[in-house]
Amino acid sequence: MTGLVNFAKEPYSVELRELLVPGIGEEDVLLAVQAVSVCGSDIHMYAGTPSWHVKYPVVLGHEFSDVIAKVGVRVRSFKEGDRVASETAAVLPPDSVYLRRGLYNLEPKRLGFGGELGGAMLNLLKSPNAACTACRLR
Ligand SMILES: [Zn+2]
Repeated sequence: MTGLVNFAKEPYSVELRELLVPGIGEEDVLLAVQAVSVCGSDIHMYAGTPSWHVKYPVVLGHEFSDVIAKVGVRVRSFKEGDRVASETAAVLPPDSVYLRRGLYNLEPKRLGFGGELGGAMLNLLKSPNAACTACRLR
């Protein structure tokens, strides 16, 4: 599959690359990306001016909607074919005070798609935590 990769901090270090389809763990889901937007932060990453931590190389894209393509054996809240939208925060510390208060977007240790983890500007995205990162669309 093809993905849009920001491969270094230097300006304009973005290109389409061939990527392997990721395997998933027991509590992961594989998302077939249906739509992804370009955020202002993607433009900062393209220009080499992000003010946040980026783990290079990284696939861009953190605002997206998907269809569940595959679920891990321990995932109960989703099934193949469910339409979902994902949160930007892909991983949150389970002991987060912000998470307990529903303010997970303020958690300073959160890891985000398209920054610290691979993003959605590709065909198939591994989501590391189905319970926190996706909500069912009606
Ligand atoms: Zn954004």
